[in-house]
Amino acid sequence: MKVIEVVVPVPLNQTFYYLPLQNTDPQSIAGKRIKVKFKNRPMTAYALAVRETAENDFELKPIESIIDNENVITKESLELAKYISGNYVCSLGEALASIIPVSMKIPKRKPKDVFAGDENSYDIRHNLNAAQQNAADMINKSISGGENGKFLMFGITASGKTEVYLTCIEHALNLGKSAIMLISEISLTPQFVDIVTKRFGCKIGVWHSAVSDTEKYKLYMKAKNGEIKIMLGARSAVFAPFENLGLIIIDEEHEHTYKQEQKPSYDAREIAFWRGNYHKASVVLGSATPSLESYKDALENKLALIELPERIDKKRLPEVKVLSLKNKIYGRSLLLPETIDAISKALAKKEQVIVFLNRRGYSPSIMCRKCGSVFQCPSCSISMVYHRNPDLLKCHYCGESKKLPAVCCVCQSKEISVFGTGTQKVEDELKKMFSGAKIFRLDGDTASSKEVYSNAYKGIKNEEYDILLGTQMIAKGFDFPRVSLVCVIDADTSLYLPDFKSAEKTFQIITQVAGRCGRGDMRGNVIVQTGHPEHYAIECAKKHDFTAFYKAETEYRKKLFYPPYCDIAKIVVKNKDDKKAEEDSERLFILLEGFIKSCELHIKLLGPAPAYISKLHNTYRKHIIIKGNKEDMLKAAPLISAYKQSAGTQISIEIMPSDLI
Ligand code: ADP
Ligand code: ZN
Ligand code: ZN
Repeated sequence: MKVIEVVVPVPLNQTFYYLPLQNTDPQSIAGKRIKVKFKNRPMTAYALAVRETAENDFELKPIESIIDNENVITKESLELAKYISGNYVCSLGEALASIIPVSMKIPKRKPKDVFAGDENSYDIRHNLNAAQQNAADMINKSISGGENGKFLMFGITASGKTEVYLTCIEHALNLGKSAIMLISEISLTPQFVDIVTKRFGCKIGVWHSAVSDTEKYKLYMKAKNGEIKIMLGARSAVFAPFENLGLIIIDEEHEHTYKQEQKPSYDAREIAFWRGNYHKASVVLGSATPSLESYKDALENKLALIELPERIDKKRLPEVKVLSLKNKIYGRSLLLPETIDAISKALAKKEQVIVFLNRRGYSPSIMCRKCGSVFQCPSCSISMVYHRNPDLLKCHYCGESKKLPAVCCVCQSKEISVFGTGTQKVEDELKKMFSGAKIFRLDGDTASSKEVYSNAYKGIKNEEYDILLGTQMIAKGFDFPRVSLVCVIDADTSLYLPDFKSAEKTFQIITQVAGRCGRGDMRGNVIVQTGHPEHYAIECAKKHDFTAFYKAETEYRKKLFYPPYCDIAKIVVKNKDDKKAEEDSERLFILLEGFIKSCELHIKLLGPAPAYISKLHNTYRKHIIIKGNKEDMLKAAPLISAYKQSAGTQISIEIMPSDLI
């Protein structure tokens, strides 16, 4: 008798068997997504193969229906799923679900093709300068030779990395191969779609979280059948099922967005290297501020280092002025007189300004002036943020919102004040000071749809706006030639988070946002307001000195034994009952400790301790951190799955998390 072997996206590392549909060739089911009843729940499953069993097994249920018309599971996707399952602690079904989304839907009607780009546009091609040509030559040679080259292109801001990417994509296409290009931030999609479609027309697909389920299905099949040759997109575009892959580019490779936080917590860079090896394709990581891990790999020749040390046309990097917020009176405006002066001068010259503050909302804290209590979210251990229009307190972690209370909930005093500055407040202040200026604010509150990103991009590009104000969404990647001034309102938003990467993230974001100006004909100027002008992350960013930062930061990491000098994993133990969360984390810790000793594993445990945000969504969270080498961590991982926790406890493990918060 013939049965279908399937996997389901649940945390059980085994395959299951179902009977084929009647009147259907069992062989035609393998390779497709199907609907099954799994533990009495309807579920999408992946049909892997047809198996022969000796006798009728009456226990087996038939599958409910077949979702796909054509095969979606490729030989490569199965092997990649095995790799993901083995390296990020998840089941084969869960791994497959991240490669071939469960949610992809076959369009009902034949959809008309929407051409992503602006059809009236024409492509500006630049003759590569010597450094760009050298970069392109190295990469193209590797693509031609099917060499599985691995490159780190360390090119300062506006050194022309994008032009190199385009040249190499073209080379891959000319050889009949396909290419994937990953970008780090959804707000950059309109710019890159514009640039890439101008050069390659309809050969490109665009893939990110805001793409619809039917569009995703279309893109998936087109990539698989070779109807498109380029996939441009966010992290998950790395799975585009091209059969003849020649090149994978990861722009701004240092960004944490390439790391998936949920299970499976894969890193798109590692997936790219795996696929590069599978296809004998080349992988290019590009950045003006490489991650310490990648730069160290380059110094150790695990990646070939390509440098673009100068800006296009030898334009100068902007001058960075650091202004201290040290004696700033708490509660007053964060805009220093010198900053205001610089903005008004730039506006008077009809130049554009970028104002960056990585904090949305109006004011990040609400305090009772009488008893000093701070208003926290009722479900999370974090303060609520005051927003205007409408007037609300919002929790940025669980989304809860409520009215600003009239009296303090502790002492009933009416003396409630809001403190601190978010992007809304900066917008208010800028509007008051520069009444004629047109301001575009781009942050998590205004970016409600795809259109907002393209409005921001086009609006600034076409000079309909004078000031672009926003959070990390505006801090990187943009190429706006008329921006001559960048103001960082508060460089310290990420500086003192209890995370080993906080200095690195601060250095990166300041360098990146500073790099947004002076890209055209005007010299750029940057103002960085900070309460810690002497901090090495700020000093190195001021001097545009990546190497100095790398040196200082790696010394610190080495001393404290953190990546890139070891691997790291984060175990999170959660329960709505604080006591149970604590007990489970302690028992698990002891269990792991015993296992590590008896197996002589080279890993070290830290914790258990409450997470930085110790309560989230009414759930208490405890962390156990593992340091050491990954192989040994993975050996200990089965212990976590096998651990019998108390009712209501959830345990997850993230290998190489992007933060420890
Ligand atoms: P990066 O990605 O390194 O920040 P870009 O690729 O955005 O830099 O290049 C910066 C600007 O220089 C862009 O406007 C781009 O069109 C232009 N550019 C790139 N290469 C050249 C070149 N060889 N000659 C002239 N202009 C160039
Ligand atoms: Zn009070
Ligand atoms: Zn909350």
